[in-house]
Amino acid sequence: MLSFLYPARCPRCDRVFPLWEDASEGICSECKKTLPIVKDPFCMKCGRQLLKRDEEYCSDCRKRSHPYESGRALFVYDEDMKQMMYRFKYSARREYARSFGAMALELRGAWLKEQRCELIVPIPMHPAKKRRRGYNQAEDFAAELEKRTGIRNCPSLVRRDRDTKALKGLAEKERKEQLRGAFSVDQEEMVRFLKENRPARILLVDDIYTTGSTADAVALTIIEEIRKLCNEDAKISVLAVCTGEDA
Ligand SMILES: [Zn+2]
Ligand SMILES: [Zn+2]
Repeated sequence: MLSFLYPARCPRCDRVFPLWEDASEGICSECKKTLPIVKDPFCMKCGRQLLKRDEEYCSDCRKRSHPYESGRALFVYDEDMKQMMYRFKYSARREYARSFGAMALELRGAWLKEQRCELIVPIPMHPAKKRRRGYNQAEDFAAELEKRTGIRNCPSLVRRDRDTKALKGLAEKERKEQLRGAFSVDQEEMVRFLKENRPARILLVDDIYTTGSTADAVALTIIEEIRKLCNEDAKISVLAVCTGEDA
């Protein structure tokens, strides 16, 4: 639907794609040359860009474990990309989701296949916040992934019951405190999904992976719910458009 309403734009420079360029490529040829794609070496757990090859995991993943199994991202969240993500989130550049969908398949297609997920779940936004903003950019990205992979997208599986204050700048303990009980699972949806998909493999998608606290909290909520319902371990994978660089 989006494609009829909005011309395709390159998310990085925000220009409408020139007619001679294939917009399905996702990023214009000029920007592609300098695009900060997350490249090898990256953290084997969360997908964060590593600066040196001496470690397998980033400093964060060496310190603590995550409830999800594997995480990947497309781009390094540098100054340029910050502006791009700001437009995606706040300036209603929802059409960027198409480019991100195309790039996800191009850059992380093999990883996506390996995860063998049967359901896509975007990190939810609190309903009041979504009303205010008009849309949840993670949902738009998830919808594009559904279109391109055929994996069902279910934005109603997890709800955000409590709006959290900005997590930026908070210590890990405080972030956890903020996020405790912030999410819940729609049981009916989950039961329906589990009837046909066991063991459960779910792909969480978000726009930006920073500390991982939010992805952890949502993954844990899902894992605990599935354990309650059928006493099985669920496998959660996480895909984000942008991620940080290892400190
Ligand atoms: Zn561009
Ligand atoms: Zn990591």
